[in-house]
Amino acid sequence: GLDNAGLDNGGLDNAAQFERAQRVIPGGVNSPVRAFGSVGGTPRFFVSSRGATVTDVEGREYIDLVASWGPALLGHAHPEVVARVQEAAAKGLSFGASTPAETELAELVRERLVVNGASPVEKLRLVSTGTEATMTAIRLARGATGRDLLVKFAGHYHGHSDSLLAEAGSGLATLALPASAGITAATAAQTLVLPYNDLAAVDAAFAEHGDRIAAVIVEAAAANMGVVPPMPGFNAALVRIAREHGALMILDEVLTGFRAGRAGWWGLEATGEVPGGTEWTPDLMTFGKVVGGGMPLAAVGGRADLMDHLSPLGPVYQAGTLSGNPLAVAAGLATLRLADAAVYARLNELADTISREASAALSAAGVTHSVQRAGTLFSIAFAEQPPRDYAEAKQQEAFRYAPFFHTMLEQGVNLPPSVFEAWFVMAAHDDVALERIVTALPHAARAAAA
Ligand code: PLP
Repeated sequence: GLDNAGLDNGGLDNAAQFERAQRVIPGGVNSPVRAFGSVGGTPRFFVSSRGATVTDVEGREYIDLVASWGPALLGHAHPEVVARVQEAAAKGLSFGASTPAETELAELVRERLVVNGASPVEKLRLVSTGTEATMTAIRLARGATGRDLLVKFAGHYHGHSDSLLAEAGSGLATLALPASAGITAATAAQTLVLPYNDLAAVDAAFAEHGDRIAAVIVEAAAANMGVVPPMPGFNAALVRIAREHGALMILDEVLTGFRAGRAGWWGLEATGEVPGGTEWTPDLMTFGKVVGGGMPLAAVGGRADLMDHLSPLGPVYQAGTLSGNPLAVAAGLATLRLADAAVYARLNELADTISREASAALSAAGVTHSVQRAGTLFSIAFAEQPPRDYAEAKQQEAFRYAPFFHTMLEQGVNLPPSVFEAWFVMAAHDDVALERIVTALPHAARAAAA
C-alpha cells in the first residue's frame, strides 16, 4: 500500500522489509556490503533518489555519500541522464545487435583519455559489470602472452571472478574473509598476491616467476581498503617491470575512472597533476561505474593490437547478451558529456571541505585518525599514520566506524556501511547538503570517541 508520504512500501518499515527479504534473498541482499555486516543494525531499503539525496521506505531522506558506490557522479537521477535513458527505452530495450551509440561511447572514452596526442585506449569492448571487465582483461592477457600467472595486490578489489578473489578488499575486507569458498586450489595458485606499494616485492616476484607471469593488475589508486593512493611512481614502475619480463600491466579504473579526475586516476598521473606523475601507458584498462552512468555497463580497453585478440578477430572468447545495452550506453554517454571541468572542480571542493571538516570534528573529539585522498576520492582511517597497504589498513581501530556511521545515519547522512570504502561525493551536493553533512560530523565524531 501507499503510506501517507505516497510511497509504495507495502506498509513495511526498513526492519520488516529486511526480514521479508531475508526469506527469499540470501542475507536479504544482492551484494554483501548492503547487509550492514560490519556496522550492524538495519539496512535501509530505498525507494527513490534525486540529486544529493536518497529516500527510504519510511519516507526518510538522507544526504547520500555512497552514490551507488561511484556511478552517480553528477547526482542521483540527473534529469538530462534520465531523459536520454527514457528516449532510448522508448526505442527498444535491447536489440542483441550493434547500435551507433556504442561506437560513440567507445570514441568518447578514447578521446577523453588523450594526453599529448595519444590515448591508452585505442579500442574498447563494452561489457555489463566491472567484474566482467577485469575477468576479460585477464583472459586477454593470458591469451596474448600464452602465460598463466597473475599478480595482484592485497586489499585490491577487482570484482568477484575466481582468479581475483584472493585477498581482495571491499566486501571481503569488511567480512574479513581470507578469500571465498568455491575457488579451486589450482585457480588460487595462479594468482600471486603482493603487498601494495612495495616495489621490492614486485621485483622479487618477477625475478622468480617473470617468464610465467601474464599480467599484473592494480587498482589505479586503491579505494577498496579505504583510499590508499599509490606511492609516486609506483604504477609507472609496474609497467616498466612488467615490460622487462614480457608481461602486461592492467590498470583497473572501474572505481577511479572518470571519477578521481576527468581522465581518471591515470589522467592525473599522466598530466603530472599528482606528485611524481609522469607519462606512462598501461597495456589494458578497465572501466565501470561512472562510464555506465548508473546503469549496468563497464568496459575493457587498451592497445589495438592486444584488443584485437578478442573474438571475433582473435582467439580470446568474450561475449554478452546485454553487452552495449542501449539504455546503459545512453546513460553513460549523457553522464560523460555532462562531466566537464566544472563538475570535477566542484567534486574536489566537496572532497576538500568534507574531509577537512570530518578531520576537525574527529580531532576535537580526540579520535586518532588520518585522511587519505586520491583525486576526488577520500576516506578516513582510524589510525595515526595513513595506511600504505592492506596490512596497515587492517590495523586501524575499525570498531570506531560503526558508531560514527550510525550517528551520521541518524542525522540524515548516508555513508558507506564499512570503514574500508571511499566516501563518494556528487556534483549535486549543494551547499545545503554540505551544511547537513558538516553539522552531523561532530556528533558522529563524539560517538566514535566513546
Ligand atoms: N574493480 C574495482 C576497482 C572495483 O571497485 C569494482 C567494484 O567495486 C570492480 C572492479 C567490480 O565491479 P562490479 O561491481 O561492477 O562487478
